[in-house]
Amino acid sequence: MFDNLSERLSGIFDKLTRRGALSENDVNEAMREVRRALIEADVALDVVRSFVDKVRSRAIGADVIRSVTPGQMVVKIVHDQLVEMLGSEAEPIDLHAAAPVAIMMVGLQGSGKTTTSAKIARRLTQQQKRKVLMASLDVRRPAAQEQLRILGEQNGIDTLPIVAGQSPTDIATRTLQAARLGGYDVVILDTAGRTHIDEPLMVEMADIKAIAKPHEILLVADSLTGQDAVNLARSFNERVGITGIVLTRADGDGRGGAALSMRAVTGKPIKLIGTGEKAEDLEDFHPGRIANRILG
Ligand code: GDP
Repeated sequence: MFDNLSERLSGIFDKLTRRGALSENDVNEAMREVRRALIEADVALDVVRSFVDKVRSRAIGADVIRSVTPGQMVVKIVHDQLVEMLGSEAEPIDLHAAAPVAIMMVGLQGSGKTTTSAKIARRLTQQQKRKVLMASLDVRRPAAQEQLRILGEQNGIDTLPIVAGQSPTDIATRTLQAARLGGYDVVILDTAGRTHIDEPLMVEMADIKAIAKPHEILLVADSLTGQDAVNLARSFNERVGITGIVLTRADGDGRGGAALSMRAVTGKPIKLIGTGEKAEDLEDFHPGRIANRILG
């Protein structure tokens, strides 16, 4: 996802580290190039501006330029700033609440909500030995509930029996009742999407949230949509309130800017990334490792 950006930055930093001494001008010139590279990678403009300003002032302000290996110190500052921009620590799904803990999945149609619901359920079942119940609250797309049922069957995860004619909030209520009766640790509520954000969608999400009182509300966003994914996260956060983000299609050849801007723009962490279509294609988002990957 970061191949182009990584290549660009390594070109800039190779030049910088090859020089023995650095002038303020050299740093400024390198920062101009870093700025261009980030913008081309589709990182939000104000995020780029603040990033470059911070790196520049740390690089010029400290004794970096006068140090023995100034180029390497600038790279280290960029690395640390990248980690900070990405949220510093990995933030796993938080299940510290009374069972059944509800996780609500939100996002646009086709972003990967249903697939990601099954991926998370599988991981919690297999790695954390939790008893998980999944339910589709998507009553708009006729095949949606069936799609989740099949994914559940394929991965050994229970799904709420489908009852025709129920509203999303009816299904949410029934899921929590079934979870209490069945001794489930976690419920995953897969909600309906739209092709774009509209008022009825936001009202529906708020209604479900009020009933299910989810401990986590995860926005599933397609990383290939770049800045649109970032704007989407901001809107969902303002209107519904989210606790974290799952970026899907990180296996695609997107420019990576969505991943880099998300945290700074929304203040919410990227918790997981989807790296393929299969149920096991889900990874934790580690800011340090991502920064290492970007800087090669
Ligand atoms: P929903 O409408 O938001 O529930 O989206 P779906 O879960 O039905 O996913 C839409 C399509 O995206 C499906 O074909 C999935 O297999 C695919 N998909 C979901 N996540 C990923 C991912 O991380 N990588 C790739 N390559 N495909 C994904």
